[in-house]
Amino acid sequence: MATRNTTAGEGSARKSGGGRTAAKAPSAAARAGGAPAAGPEAAAAPRAAAGCSCGGAPAGPARAASAPGRSNGTRPGGAARKKIKQIAIYGKGGIGKSTTTSNLSAALADMGYKVMQFGCDPKADSTNTLRDGTYIPTILELLREKGRVEAREAIFEGYNGIYCVEAGGPSPGVGCAGRGIITAVQLLKQQNVYEELDLDYVIYDVLGDVVCGGFAVPIREGIAQHVFTVSSSDFMAIYAANNLFRGIQKYSNAGGALLGGLIANSVSSGYQRAIVDDFVQQTGTKVMQYVPRSITVTQSELSGKTAIEAAPESEQAEVYRELARRVEAHEESTVPKPLDAQDLRAWAAKWSDQILAVERGEVRSAGAQI
Ligand code: ADP
Ligand code: MG
Repeated sequence: MATRNTTAGEGSARKSGGGRTAAKAPSAAARAGGAPAAGPEAAAAPRAAAGCSCGGAPAGPARAASAPGRSNGTRPGGAARKKIKQIAIYGKGGIGKSTTTSNLSAALADMGYKVMQFGCDPKADSTNTLRDGTYIPTILELLREKGRVEAREAIFEGYNGIYCVEAGGPSPGVGCAGRGIITAVQLLKQQNVYEELDLDYVIYDVLGDVVCGGFAVPIREGIAQHVFTVSSSDFMAIYAANNLFRGIQKYSNAGGALLGGLIANSVSSGYQRAIVDDFVQQTGTKVMQYVPRSITVTQSELSGKTAIEAAPESEQAEVYRELARRVEAHEESTVPKPLDAQDLRAWAAKWSDQILAVERGEVRSAGAQI
């Protein structure tokens, strides 16, 4: 079985006594005011900015930027430079990707890592809970306005120094929804942003139910190493996850990102857990974390924040911190075994028959750990 691993960020990065203080917190004014984060100087406008490539052409070669940055390949503590860990989080629209991703980013930043959260949903709402509920201009909007974008104009500082980027989408009713991702990834790569900012993690938050080459960009060669999918036990969420597994399988021989696991969101009751457990067993993957549906998330979102920021002592925040520790420890991703359409239907029908019995505790599903 093909595997892909990374040594990035393995506990060596900026941990200074396990502190929330390791990464510099941005000023409230900078966050609320929408000021771009300090970033590298621009090298050039991206070559691909002018056109959509629904084939999802890989990003062009990175070239040196002129900005000053840490270039001696060492961490502040003297540890050797580790490779950046790039993660893509996919899932059906509304399933909780941005909520999960933002809490994960916030938890990793609190652990002392330098994190960029890269919103790849045309809705462009990935990063707002890292920025007191404010929205940032997207790369596509900036390009439409100016014709040329410098990376530092598109990177905004969020909670605990997290770098926030939104790719954006086309004007409603016009063009390819995945174009923003292609353009944004190319822009940051060409301007050598990841290296200049000396990032430990880039986390792409990607809508997983649109079939377009643009949305596959983070999976393709040279972008992310690990993919995690957010899914509940609802059939349409699992259907989207299974489609994603097909995409991962398709690109796996060409050096694409492999699957790290499934983040089970809004999974609380016994039968929900049993369904998700059975699905991961059938498709050869694992559950990274069970995230319950929680009023803490709702309250935090209403105040424009993650649970990590608004309710750091809550049980829900601890669930996200544990997820972050598991992502930190995760090294080996694998090629999933998606179900074909017929098998997925048969699998769902089996659950239709036994769901009430599982809920009543009369039977245990194979693979269920309830
Ligand atoms: P996506 O990014 O997948 O479209 P969001 O992260 O925006 O989805 O979540 C959709 C809605 O569901 C938001 O209002 C969010 O607060 C809510 N939500 C997501 N996960 C949870 C959870 N674990 N508990 C409570 N509400 C949640
Ligand atoms: Mg979202």
